[in-house]
Amino acid sequence: MKIGIFGTGYVGLVTAAGFAEVGHNVTCVDIDLARIKQIQSGVTPIHEPGLSESLKKSLERGNICFSTAPIDVVANSSVIFIAVGTPSQFDGSPDLSHVEEVATTIGSLMTESRTIVVKSTVPVGTARRVSSIIRSVLDSRSVDIPFTVISNPEFLKEGVALNDFRKPDRIIVGANDESSIGIMRSLYEPFSRNHEKLVVMSSESAELTKYAANAMLATRISFMNEIARLSEKFGADIEDVRRGIGTDQRIGPDFLYAGAGFGGSCFPKDLAALSSMAIDVGTTTPIIDAVQLVNRQQKALLAQKARSHFGSLEGLTCAVWGLSFKPSTDDIRESSALSLIEDLIREGANVRVYDPVVKTLDSSEWLDRCAICESRNDTLHNADVLFLVTEWDEFKSLDLEYLTRVMRQRVIIDGRNLWDPKVCRSAGFHYFGIGRP
Ligand code: NAD
Repeated sequence: MKIGIFGTGYVGLVTAAGFAEVGHNVTCVDIDLARIKQIQSGVTPIHEPGLSESLKKSLERGNICFSTAPIDVVANSSVIFIAVGTPSQFDGSPDLSHVEEVATTIGSLMTESRTIVVKSTVPVGTARRVSSIIRSVLDSRSVDIPFTVISNPEFLKEGVALNDFRKPDRIIVGANDESSIGIMRSLYEPFSRNHEKLVVMSSESAELTKYAANAMLATRISFMNEIARLSEKFGADIEDVRRGIGTDQRIGPDFLYAGAGFGGSCFPKDLAALSSMAIDVGTTTPIIDAVQLVNRQQKALLAQKARSHFGSLEGLTCAVWGLSFKPSTDDIRESSALSLIEDLIREGANVRVYDPVVKTLDSSEWLDRCAICESRNDTLHNADVLFLVTEWDEFKSLDLEYLTRVMRQRVIIDGRNLWDPKVCRSAGFHYFGIGRP
């Protein structure tokens, strides 16, 4: 099948790679010329395991191509995916301008019947809105070309995105006509081999399903962070509590980790969007609002722990391990590490940070107080405290003997409960985890 994709970010590029791998012909377009040139030259602009290799193979095979000209997508693809960004606006509502711009472009370039698939995370009613934009552009051209708009939200997890695309838990399709559903079924057939993965519903239900899934996952995290606070007060260990409740089949073990709060390009944005959508329809989301509040507090917790230990952060040298919002990605949007670094710098500390893949920061106002180091060990010289923020594999083992030799003070603040408090303490360190005695 000939597929077109608007947007070559985390979702667009992974979708493109995944469909090309199974033999579809894929054309991608992006307004970012530098990004397209980079991809055309064989460099993948994002860090996502397996993605470069997959794109390289499809480029060699010749069934994927990249362009900055929307006509290349609209003229050649029977199915067109919209995978552009929907960032938060100041009031939390999502900015739909990129989606609307793409809808207008499709309407102005379309000459034959097309199936348009909205993959971006968008408020309920957006598939209908895209449809009405395309219809009004076609009307203004005085042409009547049949088209359908389907909602097909994406559930991939950054860090394992390609694998998620290849083996989805489910494929949500919001459509109400049999022919569109048939197209989606055959498009995704290679990913539904051992059992049917398509869950078909209205576009409104599909759009809400995406927000509800992210809200549920974020709720589990904030819930555990709240229980972690209680654990600290009662002298309980949140790690034991997690194991204790995760074995209940009704609860399950995943997404129950207390930590330094959630970040990323989706949870914070999608929770804010859900609250704002509720206000628009005259209702409220007290659970979602509480989840966001707990998360804001959680992101401030690591600095708070340092403040209570040292009295003040002024003049401290802080080693920070991890910048991305979670391991195996270079995405730093809303990352807990950035919140921590901002707090540390604002209160007069100096920061030495290391991340296995993130090597630059845009925030120029920080640069004189925040050094990005080449290795985890480079962060530690004369450090007063080590903060662990992102649980990359390479941080899992800790050479306490080395830390003892090079750090000025022996303080560890473990924002992901990665290390053993007893081992750290017996090596003479002050150890502070999340919700642990
Ligand atoms: P991103 O910011 O990484 O990429 C968006 C891309 O769209 C950019 O490269 C941008 O240049 C391009 N773009 C903007 N306007 C365009 C236009 N008119 N024509 C062509 N390209 C255009 O975003 P992302 O993380 O891939 O997310 C895309 C959507 O998918 C969002 O709605 C997001 O909420 C949703 N989503 C993201 C994830 C994730 O893990 N990142 C997971 C599921 C869903």
